Amino acid sequence: MPTGTAAAENEPKFDEFNPFQAMAQRFAVAADHLGLEGGVRDVLRTPDREMRVAIPIIMDDGSTRVFTGYRVQHNFSRGPCKGGIRFAPDVNLDEVRALAAWMTWKCSVVDIPFGGGKGGVICDPRELTDGELERITRRYTTGIMDILGPDRDVPAPDINTNERTMAWIMDTYSMHVRRTTTAIVTGKPLNLGGSKGRAEATGRGVMISCREAMQKIGMRPEDARVVVQGSGNVGGIGAMLMHREGMRIVSLSDMYVSVHNDHGLDVPAVLAHLREHRSLEGYKEADILPNSKQLELDCDVLVPAAVENQITSKNAERIKAKLVVEGANGPTTVIADQILEDRGVVVVPDILANAGGVTVSYFEWVQDRAGFFWTEEIVNSRLELIMTNAFQAVDETAKKYGVSLRIGAYILAVDRVAKVYKLRGLYS
Ligand code: NAD
Repeated sequence: MPTGTAAAENEPKFDEFNPFQAMAQRFAVAADHLGLEGGVRDVLRTPDREMRVAIPIIMDDGSTRVFTGYRVQHNFSRGPCKGGIRFAPDVNLDEVRALAAWMTWKCSVVDIPFGGGKGGVICDPRELTDGELERITRRYTTGIMDILGPDRDVPAPDINTNERTMAWIMDTYSMHVRRTTTAIVTGKPLNLGGSKGRAEATGRGVMISCREAMQKIGMRPEDARVVVQGSGNVGGIGAMLMHREGMRIVSLSDMYVSVHNDHGLDVPAVLAHLREHRSLEGYKEADILPNSKQLELDCDVLVPAAVENQITSKNAERIKAKLVVEGANGPTTVIADQILEDRGVVVVPDILANAGGVTVSYFEWVQDRAGFFWTEEIVNSRLELIMTNAFQAVDETAKKYGVSLRIGAYILAVDRVAKVYKLRGLYS
């Protein structure tokens, strides 16, 4: 836990599963390596702004329900805040805070001019109709609208939100400001100012990070057996792209079950089954396993691409992969990190591995503001360049300080933000 700062003195008891504490712990290690002064530490680890809004909507049955939404803006030093909005029953403020801070570090790792933000609405989309989801999205947007804007804070999709949600946000914002403002969100449909390559960008970044890490540790893609947890935007697309690169995907999961075939899955067929049945259950060309068994399968690479806190003190000893590439945000707890490091498992951290999404979101924002759109080849080649440069910069920082890739990524990111913060100075 952080030491020697005012914020540290009020630190709550360490909870392995609290994502904000996990972020703060890694931040503190990086700040120690950088010798960051106490005051600057406090500024950089404290969210700039937190907003909680009530979202009353009329349900389809005519009743009124009030949902709760959050938007946290962690740091503006390098530019407007950027970060997704998730809809889930277990959204809470500490989670949104952690995700916002991770966005600050992630944007800094890939060196794009944004700070970090994140939003969430406590709701279960599986129990809501399309109309109810649209009303929640529009009322939430109206609630947080004063702190949004292309130069202030630019949301994007996250768990259970997608390009349709972004279109509703863009329309709601535009109606209020009386002009079409495409750059208010990213991850929009293509014909509403979206970018080519955005839907695949996070998965593509995961694939690139995986490939770079394999090269670093001398693992041949064609020899690698890969387990992917989650088959949504990140896991599903990541698995598809890794499959195309010649890696053998031996397991995929959704929130209900996992499918496993040691000879390699036909990834397009698995995803087609998922699209058709909305579950992996019933897929015939593989064994069906409970999710609790998936992460411990015999494999070379593990890609957790679902939710937080999946590799923990309870299972880290039994993880067989030699390489973990974090598609999800915060899938590995601080205690598990240490266990994996002691066992020689290389972890490509979330703030590097899944940064492809925010990178192409940045491209989308640039294209919207310029009103000039790029080809998919240009998007993908610029993404490739940014991801490989970022991987190299993280690897070099990790080597220079003698630390893991995760702490290397934090050192690189915190140093960049701290330098900009000091250049701007403290306005008071
Ligand atoms: P998504 O909603 O598209 O997919 C989530 C997937 O995880 C689904 O397949 C779901 O069934 C599965 N899942 C949920 N709980 C699970 C569990 N306990 N075990 C196994 N599978 C489970 O979400 P997404 O956009 O793919 O996001 C996944 C993760 O990646 C999140 O941590 C998110 O913050 C992070 N992320 C997303 C993006 C992006 O561009 N979408 C960018 C960076 C990071």
